Amino acid sequence: MVRYIFITGGVMSGIGKGVTAASVGKILQTRGMTVTAIKIDPYLNVDAGTMNPYIHGEVFVTEDGGETDMDLGTYERFLDVNISKEHNITTGQIYISVIGKERKGELLGKCIQIIPHITDEIKDKIRSTARKSKADCAIIEIGGTVGDIESLPFLEAARQMRLEEGPSNVSYVHVTLVPVLEVVGEQKTKPTQHSVQELRRIGIQPDAVVVRSQSALKPEPKRKIALFCNIEERAVFTSPDVRSVYELPLVLDDQGLGEYLSKRMLLKTKKPDWKAWRKMLEGFVDPKNQVKIAVCGKYAELADSYVSINEALRHAGAANDSLVKISWVETETFEEDPSRLRELDSDDGILIPGGFGARGTEGKIMAISHARRKNIPFLGICFGFQMAIVEFARQIGLVGANSTEIRPDAEHPVIDLMPEQHSVEQKGATMRLGANEIVLTPGTLAYQLYGRRVISERHRHRYEANQKYLARLEEAGLVFSGRSTDGLRMEVLEIPSQLFHLATQFHGEFKSRPNRPAPPYNGFIASCLKRALARGKSQS
Ligand code: GLN
Repeated sequence: MVRYIFITGGVMSGIGKGVTAASVGKILQTRGMTVTAIKIDPYLNVDAGTMNPYIHGEVFVTEDGGETDMDLGTYERFLDVNISKEHNITTGQIYISVIGKERKGELLGKCIQIIPHITDEIKDKIRSTARKSKADCAIIEIGGTVGDIESLPFLEAARQMRLEEGPSNVSYVHVTLVPVLEVVGEQKTKPTQHSVQELRRIGIQPDAVVVRSQSALKPEPKRKIALFCNIEERAVFTSPDVRSVYELPLVLDDQGLGEYLSKRMLLKTKKPDWKAWRKMLEGFVDPKNQVKIAVCGKYAELADSYVSINEALRHAGAANDSLVKISWVETETFEEDPSRLRELDSDDGILIPGGFGARGTEGKIMAISHARRKNIPFLGICFGFQMAIVEFARQIGLVGANSTEIRPDAEHPVIDLMPEQHSVEQKGATMRLGANEIVLTPGTLAYQLYGRRVISERHRHRYEANQKYLARLEEAGLVFSGRSTDGLRMEVLEIPSQLFHLATQFHGEFKSRPNRPAPPYNGFIASCLKRALARGKSQS
């Protein structure tokens, strides 16, 4: 029997609903339950793969090749489980499925309606996904904010589920914001009251409210929320500002969230054991050192578009007892004014993330070149790997080297479309996606970082290193230290004469966990720390 906990959001987006959902899961997991998580996105896209990360946030790639909402990454990092692509349900998927049934005649004679056909499909999808995962408890986060037209069918399905599954098997946790008016310093509860009223109008009485606020709720606003939201005071929790998101499960559990939910859902849980989690937190909240990393990309204005990279850097930072200070650099600025490359000299490392399209590309190549010439630690990811090859090719005399993604008529197409991509016409879910095995060459930096020969990492790309140029690049000193199992696809490159110059065609960040940083990131931060310490010494 699976228990279901629905997480809804009120007042506004971006208040940490995903982190709250993941924290609730973690709290139950530390009590001995097996937990999985599902994200519902009420938009019409079938998956997140076709959305702009600048607007929607990063596309998270699952083991089985799903292009999903970034919250799945949060769940994986907190719960330390791999979550499959079915765990990201969108309105688009639900409608495609129902309309498919209608076309096949499975619903013959019926007038197809939102209630019951769409809501039934939603409930089926939630139940089958949860059951397949074999977890004791499924956390289901409903994207958007209560009051959105899009999310209504999902909330209605959530309401029906308590009736059908029984009151102790389904719980609702509502996440809201309590703003503080600076002049008077007062915590204002009215937006929370309104959003819970909206939820109750739909027929959902939340069991608990988690309030996002700068600091802990004072007694009076807490009492007000309890009274107006029709819940006990002990069911009102605060999610205050924390130094690291990984503190939140502990902060909420200290307020009694785990105990409250266990009682409410009649769960047979054991005493929570936070020892390992607390130990892990030390590196995040109280590190001895500091490293400065420049992430040079295109969507640089929005850290959410690189959330997994951000987290992977922090995981590696914690493992190296270092606080990672990240500056997000828009590479077009280097194209406009190359002298600004000098600003990178004060960083301890340069990271070029994944990307698509031409804008900002030359600036990325300039940054890689700068890293190589100044021997600044460099890590390239996916498009960053491809641009590192372009950069290397150009400096060994292959003038006009480029990726055919950027210049279809490049003189030296050192990066080219993967052969199987030529016949692809649709854009959605057609890249090389998900986990694939990679063979590392003994004696290389990559091998040293992973400590084994065969690894598995996640991918999301259409282009790759062009076979025709490999010999030439290798003769000039570029080492391809990781390849696909058939040996044909280049996966890792390095320049051994550099302090740290490594790039991967895969995205190590998707499998990075707070207590188990991705090896390329770990090696990168270790090198950056060496540089930071050496510079610190030379300055003092
Ligand atoms: N645009 C490149 C490709 O499709 C890189 C993709 C990425 O960085 N995720 O191969």
